[in-house]
Amino acid sequence: MIARTLFTPEHAQFRDAVRKFFARELVPNLARWDAQGMVDKAFWRRCGEQGLLCPDMPEEYGGAGLDFRANAIVLEETSYTGSPTPAFGVHSDIVAHYLLKYAAEEIRRTWIPRMADGTAIGCICMTEPAGGSDLKALRTTARRDGDHWRIDGSKTFITNGATADLAIIAARTGAEPGAKGISLFFCETDRPGYHVGRKLDKVGQPSSDVTEVFFEDLLVPAHYLLGIENAGFAHMMQELPQERLSIAVSAHAAAQRAWDITVEYVKQRQAFGGTLLDFQNTRFVLADLRAKLQVGWAHLDACIMALVGKQLTTDEAAGAKLWHTELRCEVTDACVQLFGGYGYMNEYEIARLWKDARIQRIYGGSSEIMKELISRAI
Ligand SMILES: Cc1cc2nc3c(=O)[nH]c(=O)nc-3n(C[C@H](O)[C@H](O)[C@H](O)COP(=O)(O)OP(=O)(O)OC[C@H]3O[C@@H](n4cnc5c(N)ncnc54)[C@H](O)[C@@H]3O)c2cc1C
Repeated sequence: MIARTLFTPEHAQFRDAVRKFFARELVPNLARWDAQGMVDKAFWRRCGEQGLLCPDMPEEYGGAGLDFRANAIVLEETSYTGSPTPAFGVHSDIVAHYLLKYAAEEIRRTWIPRMADGTAIGCICMTEPAGGSDLKALRTTARRDGDHWRIDGSKTFITNGATADLAIIAARTGAEPGAKGISLFFCETDRPGYHVGRKLDKVGQPSSDVTEVFFEDLLVPAHYLLGIENAGFAHMMQELPQERLSIAVSAHAAAQRAWDITVEYVKQRQAFGGTLLDFQNTRFVLADLRAKLQVGWAHLDACIMALVGKQLTTDEAAGAKLWHTELRCEVTDACVQLFGGYGYMNEYEIARLWKDARIQRIYGGSSEIMKELISRAI
């Protein structure tokens, strides 16, 4: 791979430490976490101790005061284990940023340090059963009730739903339909009226807990409103570039992992008196994918630096999410083919990488919605 110039020697040391830590404490637990449908909460705390959570939060809030390059390293190394869990992207790249930018100082001081040390896990509740792409149509309501807000409604597909200690909730506060009447709220998940529903049975990503969430007469203090009342949609649009880039980063690292383990496999698998790599088809498939991965890393690095410089636009982030998640599916599908029947066996890592890939073209905004966003900038 062409040297990546955005990372410093300190970043390289950090990456090395993260990779060794995951080899020691993540990989040996994966099968057990898959079976229980969630990552141990104790592992989040270990990640906090190692400085893997919220590294780009300011030091005064318990972070390391770094920039998104550190978050990208954690995402890449997580994906490169062959598993996308725990959901660091949701926790560090999304929820912590909403708190930092929009929460009251008391909430920031209490909760961001806990997110950074892994004693509190975050989730974000936007999607509803009636629709995810059309966020403007959400139906959950928040009504002012004295010095509280009363929230009622239901959400689905919430990552970290079962393990989260705090949530960001999008709800309708204005009478007007559409984007203008939406606000965001902070909420502890142990408040009366906050109910976690079913843990959902997914095709892939088995150790990521994704659940339904219900709000029934959920009362939160007035100062739990995040940012400006009725400006929640605009706040979400501001945060989405980082969320989308973090999905693109994890997709690309997983695609690289798929390619790397496939190269190892085709070098040793025998057929017709030689190895699979002896076939021109195998070499051409791998060469084509390698060229795309190489170009992809350069593009990703440019996007990471644009985000660090606060220059990454909504349409550029949408382009990154679209392209890297589609590439991941192309790479893993081609790699399964090269594994033959073994590629379809759950005990093979390539099968897992293939199953886990599919959702990335849907969550965080589907590929079609990414095309909508890009086309608006034309
Ligand atoms: C495993 C998993 C984890 C998730 N984690 C979270 C989370 O933590 N928090 C959260 O809030 N949500 C989460 N989601 C929800 C996810 O973001 C939504 O599933 C996604 O936005 C799509 O919404 P939908 O499922 O309602 O599909 P729909 O909106 O019903 O879309 C169905 C199809 O129609 C297409 N479509 C919709 N609108 C248009 C359009 N205008 N033009 C063209 N095509 C269109 C879509 O692209 C899609 O192909 C998660 C989902 C999954 C499966």
